[in-house]
Amino acid sequence: MPMKVLVTGGAGFIGSHVVDAYLDKGHEVLVFDNLSTGVKDNLNPQARFFKVDIRSKEAADIFAKEKPAILNHHAAQIRVDLAVKEPIKDLEINIVGLLSLMEKAKKNKFLHKVVFASTGGAMYGNNPSPSTEAMIPQPLSPYGISKRASELYLNFYQEEYQIPYVALRYANVYGPRQNPYGEAGVIAIFCENLLNSKQPLINGTGKQTRDYVYVSDVVKANILTTEKEVTGEFNIGTAIETDVNSIFRLISGELSSSLSAKYVPPRPGDQEFSSIAFGKARQKLSWEPKVDLEAGIKKTVKFFQSQKK
Ligand code: NAD
Repeated sequence: MPMKVLVTGGAGFIGSHVVDAYLDKGHEVLVFDNLSTGVKDNLNPQARFFKVDIRSKEAADIFAKEKPAILNHHAAQIRVDLAVKEPIKDLEINIVGLLSLMEKAKKNKFLHKVVFASTGGAMYGNNPSPSTEAMIPQPLSPYGISKRASELYLNFYQEEYQIPYVALRYANVYGPRQNPYGEAGVIAIFCENLLNSKQPLINGTGKQTRDYVYVSDVVKANILTTEKEVTGEFNIGTAIETDVNSIFRLISGELSSSLSAKYVPPRPGDQEFSSIAFGKARQKLSWEPKVDLEAGIKKTVKFFQSQKK
């Protein structure tokens, strides 16, 4: 059944792919984005675009007037390093921005569900990998803390006002349109470096691992959780740890580049390892990652090459 869906952050990397998928499914799509990291080129022309800040009264008023059935919330301050430097700014965008919309929804009772872009990479701290949803979250950065707090607020609105929510705890998402700031930023950075013959840098030993999930798999999880009667937190990752050295080798192999990486001191507070288990998503959503890292990197490199022309 076609619905009215609001995608916040719909001009950004993941949000714009989610917009495309909702439109393909025949839904009516609205986008809120202030274009702080998102770009107009990502925007699907079939979506109705509002250039607004999610914290503004204007955004809250449009939300209450348009009354979408689904709030798909991707707008955020996404930089872990910036959140460390400016935790209040992170809180204002990532928590107050969400609450400002939820306060309108609770009064007007139009919202059927919230699908929230949370984090798996910054949620579990020093828990063993692959981490499961049953583990106690231990976010170690203000960014992870604001994502966890948002989940708890959404749970409050679910309990108190019967607005169901799903929080998708993404691993490091990569693919076409990604920018260098996100949790899988290293892939975009290496692509840009190698295509422009700039010296690639690897922090520390390069042996630190992350779980890389391709954007089309993440989009699928958004559609499934919008359609299915499920609520709560879901890890969306591959459970596979890949180190930065391997990512560099894959991208330089794909580009037949002879540039080698320079090793520089580690970034303070960088997690050593991380991956997330997806058993719950497999069981309740019939979701599993379909695109392996080699295939995903091939597609991503192709995108960055096409941007250069
Ligand atoms: P992105 O920067 O491409 O997308 C964020 C979008 O939100 C941008 O278009 C930006 O312009 C918009 N935005 C930011 N602040 C805003 C504001 N105050 N008002 C309105 N719009 C605003 O980043 P992304 O990687 O696509 O991330 C999307 C979501 O997924 C974020 O919530 C992020 O925290 C989450 N996430 C991303 C990853 C990843 O690896 N990329 C991993 C886990 C979670």
